[in-house]
Amino acid sequence: MNQPLLKVQDVSYTYHTKAGETPALSHISFSVFPGEFVAIVGPSGCGKSTFLDMLCGLLKPSSGELLLNEKPLAESATNIGYMLQKDHLFEWRTIYSNMLLGLEIQKRITPKSKERVDNLLENYGLDKFKGSRPSQLSGGMRQRAALIRTLALEPDLLLLDEPFSALDYQTRLSVSDDIGTIIRQEGKTAILVTHDISEAVSMADRVLVFSKRPATVQKIIPVEFEMENRTPMACRNAPEFKKYFNEIWKELNLHV
Ligand code: ADP
Repeated sequence: MNQPLLKVQDVSYTYHTKAGETPALSHISFSVFPGEFVAIVGPSGCGKSTFLDMLCGLLKPSSGELLLNEKPLAESATNIGYMLQKDHLFEWRTIYSNMLLGLEIQKRITPKSKERVDNLLENYGLDKFKGSRPSQLSGGMRQRAALIRTLALEPDLLLLDEPFSALDYQTRLSVSDDIGTIIRQEGKTAILVTHDISEAVSMADRVLVFSKRPATVQKIIPVEFEMENRTPMACRNAPEFKKYFNEIWKELNLHV
């Protein structure tokens, strides 16, 4: 079996404030393998954002360890990319210069890296918008642009934190289909945090159900669909979809 890209080993986290201690995560263990798409679902306030903050290095585990390619997070050279609820595209830059911003900051603009961005823009239909401003694009196109900006940095691991929750329902369906398909085509390893069960089932290879706070890994559900070239929309329409949805729904409601 492959080495895991991310190994979470018995991680716990407690917030210490004047008002007292708030345990947020309790003995979390799981692995994510290269090319895998893992979704984390859990009740609101259970500790999902705390976990992502830890993966970003903003918080240190109170106990346990996070290993990226077998190295502790702080020492690892593994590149992490983010996709958040807001696209954070800058209106004063064109789409193209927004796409190059990360590379510019990291002083990685080379003919090769520019060619990669050009290819991504062309492959995913954004080349005609190169000279446009973000406000000239639809919400869906903006999220696609945000993903391409992230992919331009060649992340080994993509963290998606409720990336579609600011969109209306209709747009959300098509954008999650779009983004999920691109991530699979690019063969990226991804962790999606969401409270939307359908989104998790349609996009992920495995769904981790977090318990209420302090979060533990209550259940890990492998999601398999009998189809080639899986896309989120096709999964939503597949016969297996309802079974997975109900299984996760039951898990989330076990302790309510
Ligand atoms: P989720 O993302 O699943 O909604 P969070 O990770 O944001 O949950 O929060 C988990 C718990 O930790 C919540 O109950 C919240 O009250 C608490 N919490 C979050 N941030 C802080 C903080 N900075 N100080 C104290 N408690 C916090």
